[in-house]
Amino acid sequence: MSIRVTVWNEGRHEQKHPAVQKVYPNGLHQPIVDHLNANGFTARAATLDMPEHGLTEEVLDQTDVLTWWGHMAHGDVSDEIVERVHQRVLLGMGLIVLHSGHYSKIFKKLMGTTCSLKWREADEHERIWVVNPGHPIADGLGEYFELPGHEMYGEFFDVPTPDELVFISWYPGGEVFRSGLCYHRGRGKVFYFSPGHETYPIYYQQEVLQVITNAVKWAAPSGAAYRLDAPNAKPLETLKKREE
Ligand code: ZN
Repeated sequence: MSIRVTVWNEGRHEQKHPAVQKVYPNGLHQPIVDHLNANGFTARAATLDMPEHGLTEEVLDQTDVLTWWGHMAHGDVSDEIVERVHQRVLLGMGLIVLHSGHYSKIFKKLMGTTCSLKWREADEHERIWVVNPGHPIADGLGEYFELPGHEMYGEFFDVPTPDELVFISWYPGGEVFRSGLCYHRGRGKVFYFSPGHETYPIYYQQEVLQVITNAVKWAAPSGAAYRLDAPNAKPLETLKKREE
C-alpha cells in the first residue's frame, strides 16, 4: 500500500496577498500534493479553514505522514487539534514541519523550546549543504543545492539538538542555519525543513520536492508495536519469593 500523506496548509496568505496567489494559485500545498500523487504516494490537502482544520480523527486514521505549513495564523489552530496531532505523532505518525511552521503550536510542543530564529527578507540566494550524505533524506541530491532567492533564516535556532542533522544553509549576508533536522518523539519521526517562504516558487523546485519525498519515506511509521500508556507488566519468567 502506498504511503498516505496529508499536506496541511494554513492557506491564509493565498487569500490575502495577491503576490502569493500568483505563485500558488491553488494554494501552497498543491504542488506538494501533485508531486506526491505523481510519485506513488496517496496525498491529500487539509487546510485551517476546513472543519476541525481538515484533521478529523478519520483523516488522521488514514494518514501515515502529515506535513505542516503555517505562518500568520498559528494562534488560530485549536489546542484540541494540536493535542490530537501530538498524540498521533507519539503513536508513530510522521510529521514534516516546513519553513515558518517552526513557530507552530505542534512543533513547539514537540520540541519543548521557543523555536525562535533570526530572519530577514532580502531576496538572498540560499545554499543548502548536505552534511549527512548517507542519510535517506539526502537521497538523489548533490553536495549542495541552491534556492535562487529566499528569506534568510539564521542561528541561533532554539530547538533541541537534533537526533540527526541533514542540511545546513548558508546565506550571502553571512548567516548559517540548521535547515534539515530529524527528531524521534515516542514512536514518531519528525523532520523540520526550512525552505518555503510563501512569495517564492520554492515548492515547485525539483530538489525541494525530492527532499520532501525522501522525508515522507523516512518519516512513515515503522518499528515495533510498543504500548505508550504505561501498562502494568506480568513477569516473563517465574519469580522466586525473596527470602525474609
Ligand atoms: Zn517566511
